[in-house]
Amino acid sequence: MSTKMNKIKKVAIYSRKSRPDETDEVLQRQLAVLLDICSKNNWEYDVFQEVGSSQDINPELNKMLAKLQDFHYDAVVTTEQSRLGRNDVVIAQVKHVLATYGVKLITPTQTLDLATQEGTLYSDMQTLVDKQEYLNTRKRLIRGKRQSAKTGNWVGGRTPVGYKYDSVSKRLVPNEYAPVIERIFRLYLLGKSTTNIAEQFELEGVFTPQGFKWDKARIAVVLANPAYKGTAVYGKTKVSKISRKPSGAPRQFKTTEEEQIIIDDAHQSIVSPEDWERVRLIRESRNSKPPSARIGKVIFTGLIKCSLCGRIQSFQRRKGKELRITSCQTRHYKEDGSYTVCENKGVRLDKFEKLFYFQFEGFVNALKQHLDDIKNYIPIGEVINRADEKVSIEKAIKSKGQEIKRVQKGFQMGGYTDEEFTQAIKEIRNQITQLEQELEGLNNKSQIEEINELEDSVSKLRAILEGNTKMCKSDINALLRKHIDYIEYTRIGDHKAEVEIKVHYKGRETLS
Ligand SMILES: [Zn+2]
Repeated sequence: MSTKMNKIKKVAIYSRKSRPDETDEVLQRQLAVLLDICSKNNWEYDVFQEVGSSQDINPELNKMLAKLQDFHYDAVVTTEQSRLGRNDVVIAQVKHVLATYGVKLITPTQTLDLATQEGTLYSDMQTLVDKQEYLNTRKRLIRGKRQSAKTGNWVGGRTPVGYKYDSVSKRLVPNEYAPVIERIFRLYLLGKSTTNIAEQFELEGVFTPQGFKWDKARIAVVLANPAYKGTAVYGKTKVSKISRKPSGAPRQFKTTEEEQIIIDDAHQSIVSPEDWERVRLIRESRNSKPPSARIGKVIFTGLIKCSLCGRIQSFQRRKGKELRITSCQTRHYKEDGSYTVCENKGVRLDKFEKLFYFQFEGFVNALKQHLDDIKNYIPIGEVINRADEKVSIEKAIKSKGQEIKRVQKGFQMGGYTDEEFTQAIKEIRNQITQLEQELEGLNNKSQIEEINELEDSVSKLRAILEGNTKMCKSDINALLRKHIDYIEYTRIGDHKAEVEIKVHYKGRETLS
């Protein structure tokens, strides 16, 4: 065992059953041995013990690895190497993480320094030493910071407006801008929106300490910052170890509260914790609406797809202008990093609507015909063979699965922002859920129910076509989605280019 490496201070004990027939007693005895090793060596420890009998899911292992990558531990202590995973691949992965983070593996019989043992990971000794030194320095810094944060010191980086950092006490102290912050909270509690406050400040000539306008984004940042109620939060984000943006910079993730160090009453508050909490509740109720709801839901939300790249088209309303389908924003990257944007252009929604309703009327008529057929020619009570319909829904579910893969691939290639990616995946998953519900419905729907439902659909759709529906936009959207899988949309060329659409109906394609 190398003595050059840093001394072991804190370790993670990992314990799990490696065979299904191992009893809890055996496991506890093994754990006792590991605890004994720790106390003999004066090591601090955290225990990660998988409970339950599942061989495949190891939540504690993942928890341990996450903390390990934040430099919490110098070593992992376990009964034998095989405990680290259910098969050799997992074990190798875990050992690779240990090696990368300079964490040793200790079993009752040996101590392994994986970073040196698996020397092949590094091209020469120099990089290994450099890496170890780098890791040690980083470990000291991060641990020092974390320790400092635990005592309530301000280690959160940028000092929030309204405070100054006092380097003697290491705490935040309100400064001459504190009254502005206090006022932002007060105005918001009085029912003003961030936009209202921004306008009022502009009229009054109130600026940020750097002389910027207090726009609504800056005000929103203030309202969301727990520092103003006296709370210090450390570790709000973490840098991804594997995932990178197209630019090559590592992605940042928001951490969960569990991973953060949160100290209340760390410094003098500018607003009371009660008021801060009230503001939080108001913010949440205002922000919970999806963006589409804020521009007023469009009945075609989620239904229109770019015919060139498959992306769901979004909508936009510029101040005082008509609602539009936006131009497709998908980027196609070339090997040299440059990109072209999808050629599909946007259009005024009313132009699209004219075209759509013209086609959709044919579908509704066919649906009515279908309804009449059922009512007139098939004796009530006879079971219709729905096998075809089931097969087509099952096929649709499968193809949605493929769609998810395509979007994931597109995301890896940089074609989507994080937000768009999440949105797109969510969208597809919703569609899958809906299809699955339909499938289930098919299995237990009686014919009478089907007729009633069809009748209801036909009359509602008629009302929409005639422009006298009483349904709200999101109900119309749901009704359209019940019948339409998606609408393929094409508009290529200059501002005179024509719009082309092709409506893909669900299940009943033969009708139109
Ligand atoms: Zn496109």
